[in-house]
Amino acid sequence: MAETQFTPRVFSGIQPSGGLTLGNYLGAMKRFVTMQDEGSFETIYCMVDLHAITARLVPADELRHNTRELCAGFIAAGIDPEKSILFNQSQVPEHAQLAWIFNCVARMGWMGRMTQWKDKAGKNAEAASLGLFAYPALMAADILVYHATHVPVGEDQKQHLELTRDIAAKFNHDYGVEFFPVTEPVIEGAATRVMNLQDGTKKMSKSDPSDKTRINLTDDADAIAKKIRKAKTDPEPLPEAVAGLEGRPDARNLVNIYAALADITPQAVLDQHAGALFGHFKMALADLAVDKLAPISTEMSRLMADPAEIDRILGRGAERAREITVPILQQTYDIVGMLRS
Ligand code: ATP
Ligand code: MG
Repeated sequence: MAETQFTPRVFSGIQPSGGLTLGNYLGAMKRFVTMQDEGSFETIYCMVDLHAITARLVPADELRHNTRELCAGFIAAGIDPEKSILFNQSQVPEHAQLAWIFNCVARMGWMGRMTQWKDKAGKNAEAASLGLFAYPALMAADILVYHATHVPVGEDQKQHLELTRDIAAKFNHDYGVEFFPVTEPVIEGAATRVMNLQDGTKKMSKSDPSDKTRINLTDDADAIAKKIRKAKTDPEPLPEAVAGLEGRPDARNLVNIYAALADITPQAVLDQHAGALFGHFKMALADLAVDKLAPISTEMSRLMADPAEIDRILGRGAERAREITVPILQQTYDIVGMLRS
């Protein structure tokens, strides 16, 4: 990793858009915990509630519930609110304030090329919100308002992180400063892109209208087993080597999920299961998934029984976050020439 003048600092966020999937867990949360525990970074994790209203305006009670449930998910998965800074975005107003500056740095052409914008706006882009279009500029602000140097995310966020780097570079260049770091995406492991269980060419998402396409961290053992049993596969047995998964996206997905849950490589999964038919392999995978996920879901329900405690944790996290963001925003305003008395 390149040496920089910036403190090694990790930032990442998850939208409280309702539920948490196995994709969010393996692609993001589990890796957030590793980076927290490893101790070489300051770690900052955020429930990005301002992003969660970009697709649609959510009923207020639903958004509050989703944010608390996401916080419970973070803690149940192993984020320690003492070791990491854990909070919801809207309690730290500097995110939205820096986003405005970045709206003026980013170019319309850059934003229009974002594949998430194209996917989420769909054919009816005219009816999509301005917020959905501007989403990546807010995401850049989420990261850069901490001068974060490393951002662990799933593969789907790679393009937004490239945009974050472009925004930092253009700001630094236009004002002749070395103020914002050029952030490193950290996209690692066997499950950087967990696929939809019914269509191995699409990513698993918490906002997919069909519940069969994903495993939720709140699913019980029966639901997990049933969804894995009904996951799309092909009639061939498991191959001996990873190359044999070429052109078999559904099979590859289940092998990758197994590998990420068991903390082994996809090849090690094949070493154990080569020649197995999917009926058999799916049973082993369901057992493993239940083993790993049941303790998280039990802990989430326990934490959800005390919403006031969750709110307290988020409030404290926001205070700690603002110790970093207030001075960085002020310095940004000074660079830009916003007058202060
Ligand atoms: P939504 O459908 O509302 O966009 P999402 O499931 O895509 O929800 P996000 O809140 O957008 O979740 O993303 C949170 C984090 O989870 C990001 O780091 C993202 O890259 C990661 N992530 C999301 N889906 C997957 C997936 N299928 N595989 C691996 N990582 C994923
Ligand atoms: Mg998403």
